[in-house]
Amino acid sequence: MTSTVDSFAELGLSESLLKTLSEIGYETPSPIQAQCIPILLDGHDILGMAQTGTGKTAAFALPLMETIDIKVSKPQALILTPTRELAIQVAEALQSYAKNLPGFHVLPIYGGQSYTIQLKQLARGAHVIVGTPGRVMDHLERKTLNLDHLKTLVLDEADEMLRMGFIDDVEWILEHTPEQHQTALFSATMPEQIRRVAQKYLVEPREIKIKAATATVAAIRQVYWQVSGMHKLDALTRILEVEDDFDAAIIFVRTKTATVELADKLNARGYAAAALNGDLNQQMRERVIDQLKSGALDIVIATDVAARGIDVPRVSHVVNYDIPYDTEAYVHRIGRTGRAGRTGNAILFVAPREIRMLRTIERATRQPIAPLTLPSRADVTNKRVADFKAKVAEVLDAEGLDFFANIVSQLCEEKDVSAEEVAAALAMMAQEGKPLQIAGEDPAPRPFREDRGDDRRPASFGDRERKPRFEDRGERPRFEDRGERSERPRFEDRPPRSERPARPAPAGDMVRYRIDVGREHGVEVRDIVGAIANEAGIESRFIGRIGLYEESSTVELPAGMPAEAANALKRTRVRGVPINLRPDEGRPGGGFSGERKFKKKPFADR
Ligand code: ADP
Ligand code: MG
Repeated sequence: MTSTVDSFAELGLSESLLKTLSEIGYETPSPIQAQCIPILLDGHDILGMAQTGTGKTAAFALPLMETIDIKVSKPQALILTPTRELAIQVAEALQSYAKNLPGFHVLPIYGGQSYTIQLKQLARGAHVIVGTPGRVMDHLERKTLNLDHLKTLVLDEADEMLRMGFIDDVEWILEHTPEQHQTALFSATMPEQIRRVAQKYLVEPREIKIKAATATVAAIRQVYWQVSGMHKLDALTRILEVEDDFDAAIIFVRTKTATVELADKLNARGYAAAALNGDLNQQMRERVIDQLKSGALDIVIATDVAARGIDVPRVSHVVNYDIPYDTEAYVHRIGRTGRAGRTGNAILFVAPREIRMLRTIERATRQPIAPLTLPSRADVTNKRVADFKAKVAEVLDAEGLDFFANIVSQLCEEKDVSAEEVAAALAMMAQEGKPLQIAGEDPAPRPFREDRGDDRRPASFGDRERKPRFEDRGERPRFEDRGERSERPRFEDRPPRSERPARPAPAGDMVRYRIDVGREHGVEVRDIVGAIANEAGIESRFIGRIGLYEESSTVELPAGMPAEAANALKRTRVRGVPINLRPDEGRPGGGFSGERKFKKKPFADR
C-alpha cells in the first residue's frame, strides 16, 4: 500500500477505539480509512469513491462512533444501505467496533422484518440506525423514528441504491432530516444522479477517490479461484499440493488474528508455516524471514504491512487468501514472488461479492487473471504417487542397497511371497500416516463441518465436482441477493419446506430442539434454516422438520452435535432475536397459541 499512514493512532481516534481495533486485529488503516477518518473527525462532509472490500464501513463507522453520546439513547447516526444483508453486516461491524463502549446500541431495520419487533426495538432506543431506504422512510413517515438528535448520515453504496430504484426514497429521507448534520456518501461509481444528490445535499464535501494503480507484473502467472463449494483452507492445501514448482509461499490475510489462525491450521496439516504480523518485534520478524530463506519454513502467513519489502527468492507462490483492499496492495503482494529472475505464481481467492475488485485489479495491472480450476482428488493422488515414485527411484540409485536386497530375498523365501508383495508392504510402511490417496469415494457428507468457514457462505465437503449448496434444488444462494431489492423474499420460488418433495432422508437420528423465535417475530422457515446452516455449519439438507409456532419454533437437527456448533447456536440470532436453542422437552406444539388466523400488519410492507 502506498498510503503513508501506518497506524490508526495517527488518525486521531480515541484510545478506546484504538484498543478495540487492535483487539479485533486491524493492523493498519486501509487507504480509504486513512483518508476519510481524519476528515470525518474534523466534521466535514465526504464524497467517497471506492470499490467493495476497501474497508469503507470502518472508514465512516469509526469517526461517527466518536460522536455518539451514550447517555442519549436517541438515533445520532443513520446509515442507509441498499440491502438488508448489508444493513445487518454494517450493524454487526459497528457492534464489533463498540466492544469497549458499554451501552452502545445499533439497530438494523429493513423491509420484510416485522414492524412489531422494530417498533419495540426503536422504542427501546438505539444510538445508530442502519436501514434500507424504504423501511427507514416508513418509520419516518409514521414518526416512529425520530432524527432530531442526528449528527451523522451515511449513504453506503449509493450507486447500488440508485440501481435498485431507491434513489427517490433516499432523497425523501435527505429532505426529512434536520439541517445540521454531517453527511458521508460512498459509491463505487459516480453516475450523474449520485453526483447531483451529492451537490444538493452535501456541504462542501471533500472528495476522496481511491485510485487504481497501474503496474507491470509480467513475470508472474496470475490466477484466481472463485470461492465456492469448498472451504478456503481445503482449497489452499489442495492447490499447494499439486502446484508443480512449489517451493515456498507467502499467504496474505487481512488481520493479525487470521495470520496466527491460518498458521496453526497449516501446521496441523503438516506444513512448516508461521505467522508474520505487526505484533512480532523486529527480531522475531527477521527470524521468520530467515527461516523462510533457509527452508526451515515453507509458508509464511502475513499481513500487508508485515510482509512489505520481503525479498526471499525461493518464494514461488503468493496466495491472496483474503483479497487486498486495492490494486496497489495487490501489486505489492504479488511482487514478493517472481524474484531474482525466477517466475512466480500469484493465486487470488475471490468471494462472489469481490468480483468487482478482481476486475479492477485486472484493469489496473493490464493483465488478465485466469480462473483456476481446483485440482480434483485424482489430481492430488496422481501427484502424490508421482512424488512417491520419484523418491523411491532416488533410493534405487543409492549405495548400500545390497544389504536390504538380501533381507527382501530372505523374506520372500520365509513367507513364500513375491518381491513385489514385500515391496508393497514396505511402501505401505513408508507412507504410514501419509496416504497417497484421498480416501476411496467422495467422503460421505457429514452434517457438521469441522472447520467453520471464515466466509459467511457455508462450505460443502466434497470436491469441485460437488455442486454448490443450493444449486440442486433450484434455490438461489444468499450471496446473489445483494443485487435485488432488499424487500424481496429470498427464495420466493421455493415451495415451503413442508410442501417440498421428499428429500433424501437425513442419515442417523434426529433430535428436536426448541428455539425462541416464531411467527410473531416475522420469522419464516428459511430464516431459521439459513441461520442454523450458517452458524452451526450444518448443511441445510441435514436440517429436519421445522415447526413454526407463534412465539417459538422447533427444529430437528442431527444427533451428536459438536459442542462448538451447539454453543454457536445458543448465541445465534434470527431477525435479531436470540434463538436460545435447547433440546425440546414439551409436547409438539404444546403450550403455544398455534397459528394466528388474522395476522394484522400495522402497515403495509414496502
Ligand atoms: P467495503 O464496505 O468497502 O466493501 P468492508 O468495510 O465491508 O468493505 O470491509 C471488508 C473487510 O475488510 C471486512 O471483513 C473488514 O472487517 C475488513 N477490514 C476493514 N478494515 C480493515 C483493516 N484496517 N484491517 C483489517 N481488516 C479490515
Ligand atoms: Mg460496504
